[in-house]
Amino acid sequence: MTKILVANRGEIAVRVMRTCRDMGIATVAVFSDADASAPHVAAADEAIHIGASQSGESYLSISKLLDAAQRAGADAIHPGYGFLSENGAFAEACGKAGLTFIGPRPQTIRAMGAKKEAKAIAQRAGVAVVPGYDGTDQSVAAFSAKANEIGFPVLLKASAGGGGKGMRIVRAPGELASAFEGAKREAQNAFGDDTLILEKYIERPRHVEIQILGDEHDNLVHLFERECSIQRRHQKIIEESPSPALDADLRYRMGRAAVDVARAIDYSSAGTVEFILAPDGKFYFLEVNTRLQVEHPVTELITGLDLVREQIRIARGETLGYGQQDLKQSGAAMECRLCAEDPDQSFMPAIGTVLAYQEPQSPGVRVDSGIAIGSVVGIHYDSMLAKIVTHGATRDEARERMERALRELVVLGVPTNRAYLLRVLANEEFRAGNIHTHFLQDTKLDALPTDTTAAIVACVLASTQERERARTVLPQIPSGYRNNFALGQHTAFVVGEGEHAVRYRCLGADAYSIEVDGKAQIAKRISLTNSLLTYEIDGHRKSVSVVADGERYFLRDGVNDIVLNEKPRFPDATSSEVKGACIAPMPGKVATVHVVNGQRIEKGAQLVVLEAMKMEHVVTASHAGTVRDVRVQAGTQVHAHEVLIVIDE
Ligand code: ADP
Ligand code: ADP
Ligand code: MG
Repeated sequence: MTKILVANRGEIAVRVMRTCRDMGIATVAVFSDADASAPHVAAADEAIHIGASQSGESYLSISKLLDAAQRAGADAIHPGYGFLSENGAFAEACGKAGLTFIGPRPQTIRAMGAKKEAKAIAQRAGVAVVPGYDGTDQSVAAFSAKANEIGFPVLLKASAGGGGKGMRIVRAPGELASAFEGAKREAQNAFGDDTLILEKYIERPRHVEIQILGDEHDNLVHLFERECSIQRRHQKIIEESPSPALDADLRYRMGRAAVDVARAIDYSSAGTVEFILAPDGKFYFLEVNTRLQVEHPVTELITGLDLVREQIRIARGETLGYGQQDLKQSGAAMECRLCAEDPDQSFMPAIGTVLAYQEPQSPGVRVDSGIAIGSVVGIHYDSMLAKIVTHGATRDEARERMERALRELVVLGVPTNRAYLLRVLANEEFRAGNIHTHFLQDTKLDALPTDTTAAIVACVLASTQERERARTVLPQIPSGYRNNFALGQHTAFVVGEGEHAVRYRCLGADAYSIEVDGKAQIAKRISLTNSLLTYEIDGHRKSVSVVADGERYFLRDGVNDIVLNEKPRFPDATSSEVKGACIAPMPGKVATVHVVNGQRIEKGAQLVVLEAMKMEHVVTASHAGTVRDVRVQAGTQVHAHEVLIVIDE
């Protein structure tokens, strides 16, 4: 194997290439229109453009990927995770084209692709599965009878599912029929297969998974567990190993169960057996992910193994060269997924341009990232930007390092969950390890203190320097300088819901009198380089990261990321509001329209389902009324703030 094409993008493509380089293997990146200047392209020895931004035209196109591999003369393909990584047809097509697919055999991927079949295999291997129904009778009557038998609550799942899509919790018999229809529709839309399965819904469970590794010579080991209970929208955002819930005995039994399942399908390459762990200590098989998992770095940090290297070695036909007894869990590791999203608005994906970016760098901290300054985070791909992974002797140490790393990390220009992750890490129950898969839903996290006035002062100091730099006429006169000192500059900043009146004037020598909401202070700008502003008030020095994008300022005050909008002095005449308009909160594609013209609706009624970055967002009515103007239909691409539907009161 001399040249590997990485059929992926973002952080995972960069990460796979890093190991290839370690092993002296050349790398080929592929990229779509949107990714022409993405970091994964620069990280490769060569790169091939494969098509338009939509995944279907590029990263999900088997023929384009194979064509690229041939053009570049690659002899193997690494699929990363997501996209085609669990696509049996892709693995098979690689083989037919004479390329080594770095992953399990096609038949293994297929066998584990349907939850239904996977559960049957696990059961035959003697591993407990969640009680439920996975029969061929897909009628609501059959599901209802079975639900009554096993008892509520139950969970409906798409058999072909992934990423938490097509799942519905049903708490009472009366809710089953409508949940059934919804799950079928979502499964059909997302996976082209509406087969459902039913499971007993386990209350307050943990998600604990076991990493497995097998070679082509019957050697099979597990690399211990990962605790992945911190989830939003059924998707993990913090993972760790070891799990605070496992003792040596449970670890032994779960590890053995995972290896039993893997053995039953003669598993080779890296994979993950997912379990749900009930509060009573019983664990049940969920599914096998036949690929490298997003959270694989925590396992790498506690075992010292490079999982991508192991995948490549296995694909080359080498033997593992170690057995279960050679593997040890050393210390504790934690991973946080940095996502472009707004935690305050049900984690809605966010877009933007990365204007400032600085990774934490120090021992015990690893950053796997797919972004750089200038990266455009658009609507076409997953919202995960980077992963911060820390290692320590104990869980506390790994967590403390994570807190520091997240405080040091600067990402401005795109809203992220960075501060939200810090709030989770600060929570007492999280610190104690008392977590479950509904932890984020059920827990009220403390807000981190933020000083809006200080943020505004920083924005004024940054903007005045920018203006001085930008000005060519009389550059020696500072911005905000007036012959008449009494006047000063008037402006206003909008932060969240609040608007703050601001007046400032230059006192010379980088010092400004800045009045926020009627309270004045004198601040002196010390320096502003690489988005880092240092300033002084009364001999007290502070540094903050701040960038401006037109009227918008992005600022990080150590913990929080704050967005401030300077109020335009001349309001934009084109953005006049349409009365009764329901607008798109983000750019995306309309998946479903739930209402028709003339329909009476209540406040909160579901109007439109939008899809962006693989997430669905439901736009609801802000007021009751009659639908007057439906401006979109399924399939329409919309901009943020575009009017979708108009409702007469
Ligand atoms: P895990 O998060 O446990 O590794 P998931 O099934 O949630 O497993 O998916 C793994 C990752 O793969 C997701 O975080 C996402 O980034 C990516 N992914 C999942 N499905 C797709 C898809 N259809 N297209 C592109 N990426 C996907
Ligand atoms: P996906 O293919 O979407 O990853 P999984 O079957 O792995 O689907 O389940 C995803 C998540 O849903 C789990 O991590 C867990 O939080 C929750 N979950 C799945 N099955 C159950 C169950 N029977 N009871 C309670 N929670 C469940
Ligand atoms: Mg899963």
